[in-house]
Amino acid sequence: MSLLVIGSVAFDAIETPFGKTDKIIGGAATYISLSASYFAQPVNLVAVVGEDFPHNDIELLRSHGVDTEGLQIRIGEKSFFWKGRYHNDMNSRDTLATELNVLGTFDPVIPNAYQGCEFLMLGNLAPSVQQTVLNRMFKRPKLVAMDTMNFWMEVSPSELSQAIAMVDMLIINDEEARQLSGEYSLVKAARIIRDMGPKFLIIKKGEHGALLFHGANIFFSPALPLEDVFDPTGAGDTFAGGFMGYLAKTGDISFDNMKRAIIYGSAMASFCVEKFGTERLIGLLQQEISDRVSDFIMLSQIDMEFIS
Ligand code: AMP
Repeated sequence: MSLLVIGSVAFDAIETPFGKTDKIIGGAATYISLSASYFAQPVNLVAVVGEDFPHNDIELLRSHGVDTEGLQIRIGEKSFFWKGRYHNDMNSRDTLATELNVLGTFDPVIPNAYQGCEFLMLGNLAPSVQQTVLNRMFKRPKLVAMDTMNFWMEVSPSELSQAIAMVDMLIINDEEARQLSGEYSLVKAARIIRDMGPKFLIIKKGEHGALLFHGANIFFSPALPLEDVFDPTGAGDTFAGGFMGYLAKTGDISFDNMKRAIIYGSAMASFCVEKFGTERLIGLLQQEISDRVSDFIMLSQIDMEFIS
């Protein structure tokens, strides 16, 4: 089944304790699309860049089965730019710059060929644009998932609440869940957030895994313990891309299949952090992905005996 992705396609400048990059290709939709492309092709992309965005990088997306008909290139304008610096724990970071540029006036156009997509991933972007995309779909997709971040909670809280009320699933990290709900306990936060609209909620906890909530059910997936984390940028988006890509491939949105999708998403995220930017997501082999998924299964599989 087909997947439509929206989100930022960007230049990022990243500083970690291991080094720093100049402007490299990044953005939520870039990570989501690359990750999803290992499961479901084509990945239909709706996004915007400026004239400064390198043609080679658009070609790179295409070579991964990403359809770029919905990617607007705005002549005479600059691409979205984000700069971040990670703390020594590699889990927390400071945003040093957010230059919206083309994103500030983005009017998403959904090509006819993308209408009818069954899975929609509303990646991190202005919540008003996320709403517009959903409103411009002729038919509501089978599953609409959405990501957001603290920036939009602070800049446009009411549009964000409206967007959250429209989607089936929210995928956010623990810090964002706490900020959005005003609750420290993630179980309480999950209840409050699901009362805002989404039936499904995923809370990502970085190196501590991810939680899926639906009805009375909770599922937890660990993150793979890695010796070296080089750059966590985009790990959350890569997780979302693997998760939605797997659901789109299988077409099954049962809770049990979502558990499998979470493991695929977590496996993809574990690759992302091994190198700077999108580097590790380029040219992965299916065998590498299967091996990673096996590592995840081994990590928490137990043969339990009950005491009678
Ligand atoms: P993550 O590490 O998963 O939170 O994703 C990082 C990506 O989000 C980077 O590649 C940034 O370009 C992108 N990003 C950062 N801030 C924003 C924002 N306000 N809106 C959209 N995308 C953003």
